[in-house]
Amino acid sequence: MALSKNNIDGACEGPLDRMGVSLIGSKVQYTLPVGSHQVDLMPLIGQFIQLSYLGYSICQACGLALKKSYQQGYCYPATQRLASCDLCILKPELCHHHLGTCREPLWGRQHCFQPHRVYLANSSGLKVGITRASTLPTRWLDQGASQAISLLSVSTRRLSGLIEVLLKKHVSDRTAWQQMLKGVPSWEEMCAQRNRLLNLISEDLKEIDVKDIQLLEEPPQAFEYPVLEYPTTVKSLSFDKTPEISGRLLGIKGQYWILETGVLNIRSFTGYQIRLEAQHPLKIQPILRVYPYAQSPLCGAAR
Ligand SMILES: [Zn+2]
Repeated sequence: MALSKNNIDGACEGPLDRMGVSLIGSKVQYTLPVGSHQVDLMPLIGQFIQLSYLGYSICQACGLALKKSYQQGYCYPATQRLASCDLCILKPELCHHHLGTCREPLWGRQHCFQPHRVYLANSSGLKVGITRASTLPTRWLDQGASQAISLLSVSTRRLSGLIEVLLKKHVSDRTAWQQMLKGVPSWEEMCAQRNRLLNLISEDLKEIDVKDIQLLEEPPQAFEYPVLEYPTTVKSLSFDKTPEISGRLLGIKGQYWILETGVLNIRSFTGYQIRLEAQHPLKIQPILRVYPYAQSPLCGAAR
């Protein structure tokens, strides 16, 4: 069954942003920002929905309308000039702030010189990761983790990256997203895994500035995602190939929608101008969309 003009009762339009996540106990709840609308996704699970791509994107930094966006929702100048688009964001061990070459030293101070966590998560199997302490547990939920535990607290992003490099010798740093979307991973004894891995790196850790490293003994957390049915084969959907994506929404995990027609990584389409339509009226809260680089020479709109 497809949506037609006769059975659409709810709609809204605007640029997509990554889904908002929250927890009720261990249950993950999702909202979807569509421009200045924040749509509650929980009532849509099990419903037929349609997303139509309107052919352009909005840069999430400057708000400029773009034919093509880069690095999940930026104009091209932003990717070359913003610290948040630099390689060291993906590879924190390459942080070069101390060399005086940070693209935006003040931004770096605010984002990278903050307490960071080194953690273990179980999304498609065990993996190591790092994040700013203030982004937990959101980061775990964005990755579709079923379990997670913090290992260490450190004073800077670079330090967390150096420790992650040590841990990567013993455990993956990747989520196999296809596997993550096929079901719930096998249960891991997270405390035992934490102890095992910390033992493995204890000698190497001594070579790093240990006064800035704090061992954490927090309990592991477990998370349940709103999924009615997992797909047996994972087919990836893209607005670039199919401007209209529709079907029954079977569930949400990580930043993915599981539709009966395939899976859609919402985060990949940050800034894409879309129209969301559903059979029933949408539950919407107004939100303020801010473009922090709207007037900045670092981004496209100001040029
Ligand atoms: Zn821009």
